[in-house]
Amino acid sequence: MPAIDLSIVVPCYNEEESLGELHRRLSLVCRHFVEAGNKTYEIILVNDGSKDQTWQRMLDLAALDPHLVLVNLSRNHGHQLTLTAGLSVCAGQLTLIMDADLQDPPELLEQMVGIIQSGADVVYGRRRRRVGESTFKRWTAALFYRVIQRLSDTPIPREAGDFRLMTRRALDVLQAMPERHRFLRGMVSWIGFRQEPLDYDRDLRFAGTTKYPFSKMLRLAIDAVTAFSIKPLALASFVGLVTAALALLLLIYSLISWIAHRTISGWTSLMAGIALLSSVQLFVLGIIGEYLGRLYEQSKGRPLFIIERIVRSSESPATPAPPSESHI
Ligand code: UDP
Ligand code: MG
Repeated sequence: MPAIDLSIVVPCYNEEESLGELHRRLSLVCRHFVEAGNKTYEIILVNDGSKDQTWQRMLDLAALDPHLVLVNLSRNHGHQLTLTAGLSVCAGQLTLIMDADLQDPPELLEQMVGIIQSGADVVYGRRRRRVGESTFKRWTAALFYRVIQRLSDTPIPREAGDFRLMTRRALDVLQAMPERHRFLRGMVSWIGFRQEPLDYDRDLRFAGTTKYPFSKMLRLAIDAVTAFSIKPLALASFVGLVTAALALLLLIYSLISWIAHRTISGWTSLMAGIALLSSVQLFVLGIIGEYLGRLYEQSKGRPLFIIERIVRSSESPATPAPPSESHI
């Protein structure tokens, strides 16, 4: 593969109206990037099984611009997998991820590159304001970030979408995470290295309507919670413990009633059976949950650790960082 300084990956689903303007603005930004002393760039447009003229528009653009790389998915795979497909073909030393609707201004690239040059591996856009988004969308997003921050051990930044610039080594680690249900912004956070926010105002969609209806947002939220937390599984253990305590009280109450001859015959043994069995069942479910959680973590196949750099005592710490190493 030729050495490419910058790849821009854009997932597109029914975005025929935005593509022309997207290409115009991206080309301008990339021209500045090259003028700043860089060599070359590529713009990867991934068509996620669009039903409109998106693919045809892409082909038209690619006929005029050799910097374009087009990827056509066989059907609609959803935003996160479309992005993953684009990332799998990109060759840049730096990779910018952005949406096709120009809600995230590509002109921030220069600032992002500056932050990377100061030593960061990931610069993520953090939305200061979201112009034109409904109160419902903003509230549900705020609630989602609150829940995921509570549940997840990985800090997942608030108000950050997938708009981000990454170094090659960060992307290489991301590619080494083969999990199927992908919540990319969380996965990038999980990688570590130095990750810096860049605040910006989110614009209105350039054209068309959102391709993320509530059902898709809910799906993404469920993927995020299940990919980054096994706490819901531990719920059975917790409920089991509470029920065991309640069962014990119930048992004591039935025994006292039996001693005081306040029961009809058979009731006490029935109650004792129910109380004991239900708490044992929940407790065992909790244990299964713990093992299932570990099995699930294992099945994600993420690297066990990611080494940022190794310094040997014979070398000065100022030696350039070796390529990242990961152990799978
Ligand atoms: N997208 C996609 N596949 C889908 C849904 C969306 O590739 O199934 C793309 C879409 O074309 C856009 C990006 O994902 O480039 C974000 O979607 P959108 O702007 O509709 O989401 P919102 O900004 O409203 O949350
Ligand atoms: Mg959008």
